[in-house]
Amino acid sequence: MHKYEAVIGLEVHAQLKTQSKLLASDGTNFDALPNQNVSPITLGHPGTLPKMNKEAIALAIKMGLVCASEISTNNYFARKNYFYADLPKGYQISQHTTPICIGGKIHIHTSAGERDIKLTRIHLEEDAGKSIHDQDDELTFLDYNRAGMPLIEIVSEPDMHTAEEAAAYLTQIRKLVRWIGICDGNMEEGSLRCDANISVRLKGSSKLGTRVEVKNLNSIKHLKHAVEIEIERLCSLIDTGHTILQETRSYDADAGITFSIRTKEDAEDYRYFPEPDLAPFKFTQTYIQELKDQLPLLPEECFKKYVEAYGLSTYDAEQLTEDKSLSELFEKIAIITTYKKQWANTLLGPVRAFLNADGRSWENIRVSNDHWVSFLSLVGEGKISFSQASQKLLPLMLSDASSDPMELVKKLDLIQDAGEEQIQQWVNQVIASMPDKVAEYKKGKKGLIGLFVGEVKKVSKGKADPKVSTQLLESILNEK
Ligand code: ADP
Ligand code: MG
Repeated sequence: MHKYEAVIGLEVHAQLKTQSKLLASDGTNFDALPNQNVSPITLGHPGTLPKMNKEAIALAIKMGLVCASEISTNNYFARKNYFYADLPKGYQISQHTTPICIGGKIHIHTSAGERDIKLTRIHLEEDAGKSIHDQDDELTFLDYNRAGMPLIEIVSEPDMHTAEEAAAYLTQIRKLVRWIGICDGNMEEGSLRCDANISVRLKGSSKLGTRVEVKNLNSIKHLKHAVEIEIERLCSLIDTGHTILQETRSYDADAGITFSIRTKEDAEDYRYFPEPDLAPFKFTQTYIQELKDQLPLLPEECFKKYVEAYGLSTYDAEQLTEDKSLSELFEKIAIITTYKKQWANTLLGPVRAFLNADGRSWENIRVSNDHWVSFLSLVGEGKISFSQASQKLLPLMLSDASSDPMELVKKLDLIQDAGEEQIQQWVNQVIASMPDKVAEYKKGKKGLIGLFVGEVKKVSKGKADPKVSTQLLESILNEK
């Protein structure tokens, strides 16, 4: 296999989060009953006319902006003609020669490092309905709710070379569309779908090999696996002297295989022509700038800020920018507390664990800014230990947003307020009870200090400030 290089290009369809469809005022809710969101326009009745949804255009432009694409200011739609039962008009309204966004890139991180994957285009189009074959042995059911839903198709250049890169690319797209709020990124519900084009060629060759296209991969895991097995299959076909046919394949997740659904000897002829029922449309640079101004700080920009301005580790910054709501919550308090590192630890440790256990998400957190700031001051100033704060305070604060951490620490008697004399007594007690460890320490095993501090914390029931205990312990233990 190492003789060959794989080449991968992905086509990703993202359903835009608009109130109504691309060309009609029908609703877009996923939980609608079958054929509930179907007006005569969606059903393609004679005499009906489509009307462009301005919001869909805005969302498509936003995606182009975050991908550094060129935004095309002169646009028209095209008719892509083909017959299918789930396409009631007999054609799909799409963009052919004038995609709304041209070029661009998606930045990915893999075990091999970071790089940009080049985009060819992002264009707008309407979705088809859904043919349902698995509810009856003889009949196919048709649900037209999806017909006319607004999609963008994000087409990459044949610019990826491993399954890991393909997975990282799709992961990044999902993160971006969610981050800027243009698509919910839900792959199980089909709001984000992916087709993978894969070919292999001899290493060093610049000519592309014949590709196969694996359709409708509905999770990142499936994409990764399908690309892996397809690369292997293509390599062994070439090794055994076979010619690769350009074909469309499907992935069977249960069997873990791909199988051919049709060969594509010639490109299909869709008889594209400019859509006569929709006027071409133009927009200005001012409009593009307005949309740019609405964009939030992007994950990469937040990452940079957290590392450079807040002094967090790249590991913490990476985690905090996984999710937009998490990042917003972090930022909201980070700008008003000096204890930024403790704040990151609080969110990524105990708060995340609490949410996971409860199956809740970051948006569900209702704790007020004041309460967070008090909480962090208690921890940051050493009035209460981080473990006490996480185990005793946080669950109460997160379950009941009215709980004031200042009152809670008093009520639960959690303040590390023991005086130095009191702590000295605990220190003496601990040293006396551990002669073996003390001897080891004196022989040079300085790492044992943590154990002694922990013991003092235990006997003091959390009332001894570990900084003070450490000092007192060291002054006795380091005596000659
Ligand atoms: P279609 O819509 O007919 O599938 P396109 O020519 O628009 O075709 O290509 C779709 C995708 O296939 C693009 O992402 C492109 O990068 C990728 N692609 C094209 N040729 C190859 C190839 N030889 N190997 C891998 N990917 C390819
Ligand atoms: Mg294709």
